Amino acid sequence: MSSWIERDEAVVWHGFTQMATYADNAPVIVERGAGRELVDVDGRRYLDAISSLWVTTLGHRVPELDRTLTDQAARIAHSTMLGNGNRVTVELAEALAQIVPVDEPHFLFASDGAAAVEQALKISFQYWVNIGEAGRTSYLAFGDAYHGDTVGSLSVGAGGFGTDLFDALRFPVLRAPGFDDPACLTTATKMIFEHAHQLAAVVVEPLVQGAAGMKIAPAQDFGMLADACEETGVLLICDEVATGFGRTGTLFASEQCGISADLMAIGKGLTGGYLPMAATAANRRVYNAFLGEDLGPKTLYHGHSYSGNALASAVALKHIELLSSWNVLDNVNERSAQLGALLDESIAPLDAVVDVRLQGLMCGVELEPGNRIGRRVCAAAVERGVLLRPLGDVVVIMPPLTVTEDEIERIVHTLRAAIDEVAPT
Ligand SMILES: *Cc1c(COP(=O)(O)O)cnc(C)c1O
Repeated sequence: MSSWIERDEAVVWHGFTQMATYADNAPVIVERGAGRELVDVDGRRYLDAISSLWVTTLGHRVPELDRTLTDQAARIAHSTMLGNGNRVTVELAEALAQIVPVDEPHFLFASDGAAAVEQALKISFQYWVNIGEAGRTSYLAFGDAYHGDTVGSLSVGAGGFGTDLFDALRFPVLRAPGFDDPACLTTATKMIFEHAHQLAAVVVEPLVQGAAGMKIAPAQDFGMLADACEETGVLLICDEVATGFGRTGTLFASEQCGISADLMAIGKGLTGGYLPMAATAANRRVYNAFLGEDLGPKTLYHGHSYSGNALASAVALKHIELLSSWNVLDNVNERSAQLGALLDESIAPLDAVVDVRLQGLMCGVELEPGNRIGRRVCAAAVERGVLLRPLGDVVVIMPPLTVTEDEIERIVHTLRAAIDEVAPT
């Protein structure tokens, strides 16, 4: 019998992974989860310090979510949203409407964050057609932005990660500077006023650009961007796929920025990391522009097979309840303060460390570039039982939102040992 890694490599194609070297990089083949730990096929345990690529909020095998899932399975797993509804999806949308900072929202469900962004792009484009205003066909997006891997979301994304080769497929957008530039939001605001007549929408990751390596812009600067959108009519699309559901210390980063999007993309943490579900929230102004005669041209002709999946809806609904009844945000803020202090003390002073960025439980430790250092440091951490995965030279720390004090210490001590091993001073 060949090993699980060999069997995996023989038939599975992993995303963002060079398959020729996949097996050499000691991949963890998970069999089950327990709390915030993953257990591999050999029984080894790993603290999931990346929340399974940023999706897990409360942990794995949460009894309440497990039970909700089986209860819903006993009713129905899935029924279509196209022209029909499902009870639990209605309940989920009602619950989301209470917490998502969008005015009188309607939710168009999808399965991945990229699709939620894609939907927002198409909705904002058609919005201008529906209200009869010509020429509003472009988008303004930011440098370093990441919005997903479909061709539309890739177009508003800034490239990188080897995606430049798709440039011929990516539609052109106006590009404001990335969050590295302290004037990025001032510049973007100017660009909105200058190009308003051609802009359908502005797309932004509020507060933190995640995939850029946890780049943070000042919360108070987002107000002028939103004001410029409001004054010029340009629609504001907030991509909260990474920042949503408590990750940055509030339920949504838009709250800290004091903004309310016309369209918001949510995904990742929506089901607590259990099931693939994403959604585009549209405010009243946008939604109303799509109302018209039956089968008429104002209809949004877009939809996905598994939109509003009932199993995912049930889990997402329970997840929203648990975020509140467990006071998860309090834990995020306490553990964030602890993590920040520990990183300042034992990681930031190291020669190999260029910068430490932290917002809630979204954290990036930027290392001195070169020699695949991010990958090697993370591999050394995995060997010590803490699952980390870098973004280039940035080590990402994104623990589940229910992470404990001891686990935060374990992550930082392990990271320190990993850096000491790979880049000794
Ligand atoms: C992960 C991410 C996406 C894409 O979500 P998928 O579910 O991976 O398609 C979009 N936007 C942001 C900000 C993300 O972090």
